[in-house]
Amino acid sequence: MSKKTDQDLGMHTSITRRDLIHDAALATIAAAFAPAAMAASVTGTNSMSAPSAADYPPVRTGLRGSHPGAFEAAHAIAREGKGFPEPKDTGESYDLVIVGAGISGLATAHYYREQFGKDARILLIENHDDFGGHAKRNEFHQGGRMVLSMGGTHNLEWWEFSDTVKAFMGEHDVDVKAMREGMQFEYGRTAPNSPAMWFDDDNYSDARLLNNCDLSKQLEHKLIDSIPVSVEARESLKRFYRDPENIFADKNEEEREEYLRSISYTEFLRLHGGLTEDAIQLFDNLQHGGWGLEMRALSAMEGIETGAPGRHLLGEEWSAAGWDYPAAMWPDGNASLARLQVARLIPAVAPGTTANNVALAEFDYAALDKADNPVRLRLSSTVVNVANTDSGTDITYFAHGKTFRVRSKHCVLACYHSIIPHLCPQLPEMQREALGYQVKHPMLLTNVLIRNTDALDKLGIDAVSCPGRLHARLFTFRGINNGGYQHAIDDSGPVSLIFWGCISPPADAIDIKSQLRASRATMLGLTFEDYEREVRTVLDGLLGPAGFDVQKDVLAITVNRWPHGYAYEYLDLWDEDYAEGEAPHEIARQRFGNIAIANADAGASAYTHVAIDQAFRAVQELSGSA
Ligand SMILES: Cc1cc2nc3c(=O)[nH]c(=O)nc-3n(C[C@H](O)[C@H](O)[C@H](O)COP(=O)(O)OP(=O)(O)OC[C@H]3O[C@@H](n4cnc5c(N)ncnc54)[C@H](O)[C@@H]3O)c2cc1C
Repeated sequence: MSKKTDQDLGMHTSITRRDLIHDAALATIAAAFAPAAMAASVTGTNSMSAPSAADYPPVRTGLRGSHPGAFEAAHAIAREGKGFPEPKDTGESYDLVIVGAGISGLATAHYYREQFGKDARILLIENHDDFGGHAKRNEFHQGGRMVLSMGGTHNLEWWEFSDTVKAFMGEHDVDVKAMREGMQFEYGRTAPNSPAMWFDDDNYSDARLLNNCDLSKQLEHKLIDSIPVSVEARESLKRFYRDPENIFADKNEEEREEYLRSISYTEFLRLHGGLTEDAIQLFDNLQHGGWGLEMRALSAMEGIETGAPGRHLLGEEWSAAGWDYPAAMWPDGNASLARLQVARLIPAVAPGTTANNVALAEFDYAALDKADNPVRLRLSSTVVNVANTDSGTDITYFAHGKTFRVRSKHCVLACYHSIIPHLCPQLPEMQREALGYQVKHPMLLTNVLIRNTDALDKLGIDAVSCPGRLHARLFTFRGINNGGYQHAIDDSGPVSLIFWGCISPPADAIDIKSQLRASRATMLGLTFEDYEREVRTVLDGLLGPAGFDVQKDVLAITVNRWPHGYAYEYLDLWDEDYAEGEAPHEIARQRFGNIAIANADAGASAYTHVAIDQAFRAVQELSGSA
């Protein structure tokens, strides 16, 4: 399987360097697609002509997320301690400058206008070529039809919303109930044989696809006998997947929990599950998507609480319940929320945009940064210095090879916390240290637009876990009908296949921060071609036997890499139990003169609702009411 040459895998088509020549790449893809074949597969109502990648970033393919050009200036100051030339004074002056145009930065603008009036002059500065931060839209156009996918932040966990966030959603006309009603998507659990597991012959004795194989459910012996690992590993799995039995009967509940929070999930499998090492490795990437971590980084309790098998060894029944994760989603993930926010803040960008048409609304990026808008959004610009002054703040940013300065009464840093000490060396040492505590979890989301789902349909699958591969899991992305967009759950194509997870750190990265940094280094070290070769290899091995032609059926690839992904959340094995007010994120987010601090990092919790709550707090602090 993996012995295929690049040519066998279809990498010979002129798609190299798609990260640099977006237009040319799109043209190549469009040309590769026969219009006659397309006509039969157009089932949605999302027909429209393709915008140009030159002025509309969501259609850009290749390396996205942290794309080339977005991070180099920040790395120059943070990693190399480089300075920038004396900035050119733009003469621009604002009430508020916001660093970072993710959900939190955009919400900051909303709350500032609520607090200080609609005439407040606001500038958002964002280092990427698109707004939304992690809430990234990937938009594909094939044969006159638009296919949407998400490039980062997936969904709304609405049951966790604070009153602040509930009000925010109301103010943006977001109706979570209606969103749920328009959703058939279940992370690839709607096909008869899903979820499945695929074993490749690089890592296992045999390449094999096992239907209805979900490690978190009780596995039957017959299924275990098909897993291509050693006989000893299979026997240990049979013992592990036994009927419920409380193996901790000698401990009371509190003692048991304390113990399970003190050992890793991997140790739990080894010590109490009785699994051999080659059986244990099947579980290593089980939570790559959910936590962005290897199982060895999680405590046994964290693993079990979030769905990894083990409850049966505490005497609890194997769950017979099906899929139970009622998150609300747009067809481009939470990018639609960012779009709704931008349309409210700068109406000229997308006039008439509402929650009912946001997924299809046209956005004019040329209107984002016009001098006569009270709110302006400046893309592809990296803030490299923020300083308090007698009259407010000075903000220096780097764009198109030059350094510029703007002035502002207030500044909110809605960017990643780990960069803040480098932007703002004036901060007290204790706060700088606390900000540096936030090492984000690198996350990876690769969208592969496939011509059709025939091979998947033939196999009866729409989600597959791949132990041992770069991406832990893949699933089809369709069946979300809202914001004006329609995409039936059984639409045969073209469909985006999402390869999802994080990247395993090397075994010698022991402590959590070393694991995260090593994973980030690997992510940034891989080229687009490396990612492309990986997804083509998997598609060829997994779907090739069912007729998928990897040379013809891959229409586009967008690799959304997020070296600074999920906000760091405190973990059982690695963090202290901090008293209220003393946790690093609470020290880190304190107001400093005219500068306040937002972002999901400020809540030490990787959620959209947290990003909004933290924006609200930051503005309250500036207004003196917090
Ligand atoms: C792959 C992925 C999937 C996720 N899925 C979910 C999900 O399903 N549900 C959920 O609730 N949350 C999810 N999250 C968490 C997500 O981080 C939050 O929901 C939310 O989008 C964070 O918004 P934010 O504005 O705080 O941060 P960000 O989105 O990170 O925005 C901060 C912005 O600041 C920019 N910036 C940084 N430094 C500078 C600088 N010096 N100058 C200018 N700009 C700068 C950054 O590039 C970024 O664009 C996911 C995250 C990732 C990475």
